[in-house]
Amino acid sequence: MEVALSQYDEYSYYNVSAFLSYYEDQSDSETIESIVTKTQWTKNTTGKVLNFGFVEYPVWIRFPANVQHDDAQQWHLVIPYPLLQHADVYLISDNSGDIIWNSDLQKAFHDPRSLRSHHINFALPGINKENLSFYLQVKSNTSLQVPLEIWARDYLIMQQNVETLLWGLYFGIIFALVFYNSFLFVSMRDQTYAYYVFTLLSVMMLMLSLSGFGNRYIWDSPTVTEYMLPISAAASCFWLLCFCVSFLKPQNIKAPIRVAIQVLAVLAVLIVLFVAYFPENGAVATGWVGALTIVVVLAAGVSSLYSGQVIARYFVIATACFGLGTIIYIANIFGVLPSSRITNHGIQAGSVLEALLFSFALAHRIKEERRQKLIAMEKMEAAQRTIVQVQNQALDQALHDPVTRKPNESFLNNRVNDYIAEERGADDFALVLISFPQIKQISSSMGRRLSEEVFESVISRLNDELNNDIQSIAVEHDTNSYVAAEDFGSLVFICKNGEGYRPLNDFVGHLIQLYDSALQIGETSIRLDAYSGIALYPIHGGRADLLLQHASAARDYGLRTSEQLTVFSSEIDTFGRRRLALVGALSQAIKDKELQLYLQPQFDCISQELVGAEVLLRWTSEQFGVVSPVEFIEVAEEAGLMSPITAYLVDEAFAILNGLHVSDLRIKISINLSTQNLTEPKFVPFVIDTAEKYMINLSDVVFEVTETYMSEDMETVIETLNQLASAGCGISLDDYGTGYSSLSYLSQLPVNELKIDRGFVSQMERNENNYRIVENTVKLARALQIETVAEGVENQQTLRSLVRLGCNRVQGFHLAKPMPVSQFREWVLRRAS
Ligand code: C2E
Ligand code: CA
Ligand code: CA
Repeated sequence: MEVALSQYDEYSYYNVSAFLSYYEDQSDSETIESIVTKTQWTKNTTGKVLNFGFVEYPVWIRFPANVQHDDAQQWHLVIPYPLLQHADVYLISDNSGDIIWNSDLQKAFHDPRSLRSHHINFALPGINKENLSFYLQVKSNTSLQVPLEIWARDYLIMQQNVETLLWGLYFGIIFALVFYNSFLFVSMRDQTYAYYVFTLLSVMMLMLSLSGFGNRYIWDSPTVTEYMLPISAAASCFWLLCFCVSFLKPQNIKAPIRVAIQVLAVLAVLIVLFVAYFPENGAVATGWVGALTIVVVLAAGVSSLYSGQVIARYFVIATACFGLGTIIYIANIFGVLPSSRITNHGIQAGSVLEALLFSFALAHRIKEERRQKLIAMEKMEAAQRTIVQVQNQALDQALHDPVTRKPNESFLNNRVNDYIAEERGADDFALVLISFPQIKQISSSMGRRLSEEVFESVISRLNDELNNDIQSIAVEHDTNSYVAAEDFGSLVFICKNGEGYRPLNDFVGHLIQLYDSALQIGETSIRLDAYSGIALYPIHGGRADLLLQHASAARDYGLRTSEQLTVFSSEIDTFGRRRLALVGALSQAIKDKELQLYLQPQFDCISQELVGAEVLLRWTSEQFGVVSPVEFIEVAEEAGLMSPITAYLVDEAFAILNGLHVSDLRIKISINLSTQNLTEPKFVPFVIDTAEKYMINLSDVVFEVTETYMSEDMETVIETLNQLASAGCGISLDDYGTGYSSLSYLSQLPVNELKIDRGFVSQMERNENNYRIVENTVKLARALQIETVAEGVENQQTLRSLVRLGCNRVQGFHLAKPMPVSQFREWVLRRAS
């Protein structure tokens, strides 16, 4: 069998693999002269491409040819495998054994007739002879493969064109990516891009070596290829590993994989050093490191994908592409897959896909990082917004009433001062304070929530009314608030005053009338009493706080005098000054024991016997003369003087009681308490100690409390009352009927006596309603097993009615007036006789 190069066809080529015989010169001792005579040739019976794998010795190949064509120079002997370090070709005459023609890689390269191609090709000489044989001696540092073909020159050109196009495309893409990513590195200063550029450059060098293009067009030396191949492969591994860690970020890669990456990177560097000395041995080591690198990088990608990194997706696919390409290529080199365009270009295709995908990944990373940054920025903005919101809220809270959400006193102050500043010299205006004293009482007896509802409805009613009136001035424009909440149960508004406006008495009087109709609260319907105090700008003050202070003084005055509408006046101012002076005088009076105890007797309704006495304070001041207890008790409460007063009173009263008991008058004593006593922690121990001191049995002591006292600190008040009750004291609910006590409220208190208000009792004979109230109170108390005391019994008729109704005890001017202790004793003695 021989290759007959006869009919030249421009696109024909022969694969001569099936004609080959080979001789593995393991001792590397044969020359062309000796090999011609050799007889132990092995025939390549399979017809496949010869593949000797990684062998270090040269291999001789021979095939018979019949070069008949006169234009034989049109043919080229082609070895489409660029990794041969050495290829000597001889054309030998079978008959004579003469060397007719000879060439090698260097000669072929410089032969003007051979084609500038990265395919190893030898232009055949123009000889017209039969019985010729080709002999080749080939060697490779890597895998030794010898695909031998004879190509028509035009076919070679065409192949070369296609190959150049493909490789041009390949290097073009790689180059573009190198530039693109270098640019990204320069502009973003992110080393990931630098690693990637180095990876690309190393892969490019590797591909230049593998393809033969480097040898052919750049370095023109198989020796360089010999070094370049393992070095660029190891460098590719090294940079790919660096890129991998930098791209995926170490924290996203599992620890063992990270360690493997470090080990491989070190190995890659060692290989570069090793190859510098032993280039011929570098290929195998590089192959292993390369394969491991791909596996580890793939694992790192998958691991990071599992830890939630989306961009690792591209990374995994890219590495897989490159891995697949390399596997195909290596399988080709090791002869597992036949050499073909696909297998020869496996790495090329894989690496270009990898490069592209990595670039996508990097672009995606930019997008992802920008997104993250955006999210972070949005979060920051949201946080800032929240801070501003919270600040505004705090400001809002500081300036608004927590219950009604209406502007509070501070807000009102600012608003009024601003208004004064803006309208300086313009219209006069009035600051009106309206209080609903019952609202606080409702809170203590029927619950805070209900009283808040009442207050809110009171406010909104007034706000609506003011909103529709040109005379009023808005407090807060944004919320259309014309009303500010001054205190729970009190509100303030401002309105124009002067010529062209209604007189204030009409205007405010009309507003107060809004509350004349009864309000339905739960089961009860009540009429709210409104008390207003008015201060005028500028005559009653040029500042908000002054105006408010004077309006409240007017309101307080009105409360005392039961005047619903009070304009501040010098008289009130005097009253205020008197109050101030009273505070001073009263505290001195306490020290000087100027306060006197009076006793008012209480009688049992059935037996008509004296059973108790209520202690009532009297004060005759040097400066003010007789001061009513209603006034000085109020002053004392406002000035916080109730504790010393009560302490003094309890001590005196217990002493008196002890004296009475000693003189065999076994009566009980009733002592009035104020809310301050009930919220004072030392009060109960003090009572117990004093009782011991005077050897008083606390069951002979009744403490009178009014429900209106209990608005502030209900829990403490109830706690103190319970303590007093368990110490044995009686608890009496004073002024019963004036508040809004409900049954449920009463049941919370350890009350064992109801003291029906003297207002009802003194009027019960003249007023049917009052009579019913007294009647029902007695019934209710009996049902609850609570005793009843009627105070304010002013005549015999009343006393008889009370006896008939079943009231337990009575107290009143008709029976006895309050009197000093000495007089009380005399009175008792007189009565007994
Ligand atoms: P209160 O506790 O309701 O005391 C009963 C008041 O009714 C006394 O007025 C008493 O003089 C008066 N009164 C008694 N019988 C009659 C009557 O038949 N007709 C009328 N119209 N009035 C009668 P007073 O002594 O002026 O005390 C007024 C208020 O001052 C007391 O009302 C009590 O709230 C307070 N108060 C007096 N002394 C003390 C005290 O020691 N401590 C406390 N916390 N408050 C006291
Ligand atoms: Ca009383
Ligand atoms: Ca009373």
